[in-house]
Amino acid sequence: MYPIKTSAPYNPDFLEKLANIYTTAYLGNYVAGDYEEGSWSHPGVDIVPMVPNDTVFAALPGKVVEAKTNPSEGNYVVIRHDRVKDGETGKVGTYYSCHLHLSELGVAKDQEVAEGDPIGKTGSTGQSTGEHLHFQIDTSDAPFHPYWPFSFKEARDLNLGFLEAVNKGLGIENARKYTVNPLVFLESASVSGAAPTPGVKPADVKPADVKPADVKPADVKPMEVKPTEVKPTEVKPTILSNAVTDDEILIASNANGSVPFSDVSANSAYLKAIAYLKSHGIASGQGGKFLPKSNVTRGEILKMVLLAGKLRMSDSKSSIFSDVPVGDGFLPYVNTAVALKAVSGYPDGTFRPNDFVTRVEGLKIVLGVLKIPLDPVTGPVYADVGMGDWFAPHAQWSRDNEVLAPKGANFLPNAKLTREEVAGIIYVAAGE
Ligand SMILES: [Zn+2]
Repeated sequence: MYPIKTSAPYNPDFLEKLANIYTTAYLGNYVAGDYEEGSWSHPGVDIVPMVPNDTVFAALPGKVVEAKTNPSEGNYVVIRHDRVKDGETGKVGTYYSCHLHLSELGVAKDQEVAEGDPIGKTGSTGQSTGEHLHFQIDTSDAPFHPYWPFSFKEARDLNLGFLEAVNKGLGIENARKYTVNPLVFLESASVSGAAPTPGVKPADVKPADVKPADVKPADVKPMEVKPTEVKPTEVKPTILSNAVTDDEILIASNANGSVPFSDVSANSAYLKAIAYLKSHGIASGQGGKFLPKSNVTRGEILKMVLLAGKLRMSDSKSSIFSDVPVGDGFLPYVNTAVALKAVSGYPDGTFRPNDFVTRVEGLKIVLGVLKIPLDPVTGPVYADVGMGDWFAPHAQWSRDNEVLAPKGANFLPNAKLTREEVAGIIYVAAGE
């Protein structure tokens, strides 16, 4: 049976429609809007529970080998399952199921559990940015549990940030060798010698709640998920919803001793965006801090977006503006951006690199440098954005991609942009 209740079965051919339930697929990646599986390094599946603190069940009978807490996995339970028959291959072996980020542990080490026994509650403990169950099944050959397919040193040696390493599939051969697609595996796995167990306990779940996993494999047809049940708008990827499953970014960061930035909260909606900036060398921070709530200056945003776009720097060594002299660190970025016609100076011959950038100015600079096409505005965007305003298409892009949070019905076009908001704009615009 599944480790938690879900409203629809895991279906590898239908993942995009189920992306609000299975937010990161087996051997999937963290690229916004990409729910394909099988090509990258996420070794389990991230499942959003139907309700907070939902019950987590043992998927198969077994013995608890780990029930403890650490800063990365939070409260987690690993269960050893012996004599498991893989329904696909017919092979019988030992597997380890791993359940991460629980709000509470319901079992202790060495405890024997039957299929369907509650083992804990879902949560967001450890390095997790939102409630989800990271569920993973390791093979008996895996050198440790929960297994991870690459070491952080391996990623560093390749000059890859953690996110990039997963998104490039680093260690995918290890992942294939030492883990299985957990929910696909459960559809056909059985424990030899064990009496058939009811999928759910009467006390826990009413008949109407019987889960897809309790249906026999032959009955699980993709078509049982009616299109009307999952509207496209409900599964639209956003940086906010994707941030939910970015626990591994911080797991990795902790392990190599360099958290993305010490002042970025694990609950930040911009966590993934900021990690992207760091892993791509777009922002290196100051003394280990990112200063997410600080206002961004013209000089800073230019540097970040030009690095994000991997744009060739202007060869010009001369200064165009009186306040960006030769030798100023921002000069190459200012010259390049001017050459790209992405920015201009002021009539008095200054560039004012230390002036703060408004929300719409920031959108214009980033979207302009990265050449993001903007749709024409055909209807109202925000109460304080006129359809004819120059920035209406930019505000519309932000709204449609859920990048900058509005204040009620207003967009606040002239509010100052923060560094974390710039990260969000760049991440969505330059996204892989
Ligand atoms: Zn995960």
